[in-house]
Amino acid sequence: MVDTAPRATIIDGKAFAAGLVERITAATMRLEHDHGVRPGLAVVIVGDDPASQIYVRNKGETTTRAGMRSETHRLADTTTQTDLLALVQTLNADPGIHGILVQLPLPAQIDSSAVLGAIDPDKDVDGFHVVNAGRLAVGLPGLVPCTPLGSTMLLKATLGDLSGLHAVIVGRSNIVGKPMAQLLLAENCTVTVAHSRSRDLPALCRSADILVAAVGRPEMIRGDWIKPGATVIDVGINRVPSADPVKAAEGKTRVVGDVAFSEATTVAGGVTPVPGGIGPMTIACLLANTYVAACRSAGVESERLDA
Ligand code: NDP
Repeated sequence: MVDTAPRATIIDGKAFAAGLVERITAATMRLEHDHGVRPGLAVVIVGDDPASQIYVRNKGETTTRAGMRSETHRLADTTTQTDLLALVQTLNADPGIHGILVQLPLPAQIDSSAVLGAIDPDKDVDGFHVVNAGRLAVGLPGLVPCTPLGSTMLLKATLGDLSGLHAVIVGRSNIVGKPMAQLLLAENCTVTVAHSRSRDLPALCRSADILVAAVGRPEMIRGDWIKPGATVIDVGINRVPSADPVKAAEGKTRVVGDVAFSEATTVAGGVTPVPGGIGPMTIACLLANTYVAACRSAGVESERLDA
């Protein structure tokens, strides 16, 4: 008989993120008290995409709760690239702003890479600027993309030393998969990066001690793709019809990850849920990056924020 009883630890990203935000808040208060510097984050949103509006509001509220200065710039979806670049330059020059985040996606008339490339790399709290990608690749201090940073923190808090573990990352995007690979290499993992052209993905996944799913395909990674006892980080956020057919017919939806969660719990040693796993860590790491950027701008050594 196949044993389908849950055995995995559910890795509570929400609780860990709450602790991280508490540590950032305390460090922020000390930075302001001892050095007169209050970290400031500016978020820029262009257009009225409802999901982006919710993200931006949450980011603003969390930033203020952490004792930081928060600014939100809401621009019409007809905004030109010239106007957006001018705002970025103003924020680059503002000494009270230490972090700048331009919410993606941007409207079609704007070249996203030109805008992201115009942000001062030392204020690039999303960590998307090529200068920060380069710093990460060669092991220099920079600003690291929030989702892989939060995922790595959670892995270290769960497993301790990651040295020698085989990490398989499914997805090779510039914002998740590639920086995740760099961070896990820096932790001395043996890293495999899989993507849509990889052969025999289930077998690759089964060879992982750490499996990171960053694909954007609902519940693609099944329980029998997971090595017994492996640690699974589910980065995916996918909106699918409600499991209840009546609610689904009314257009109600739910959010699932890239991993078939209930199957994973019967095989893995630990797994992050969706929601409540990597999502909260991403927002917490945005604050961590803003705090670190503020410290660097003031020439102050930042406090350690990991638990
Ligand atoms: P992208 O679409 O940029 O990248 C997806 C990657 O998955 C690509 O490298 C692609 O391969 C690979 N892929 C797609 N289909 C398959 C397949 N069938 N088999 C193997 N690999 C495949 O997505 P992102 O990296 O931006 O995001 C990934 C997921 O993470 C999404 O669900 C997103 O919503 C979520 N996300 C969550 C965040 C959070 O805060 N928790 C933050 C950021 C993202 P190829 O390169 O060959 O096309």
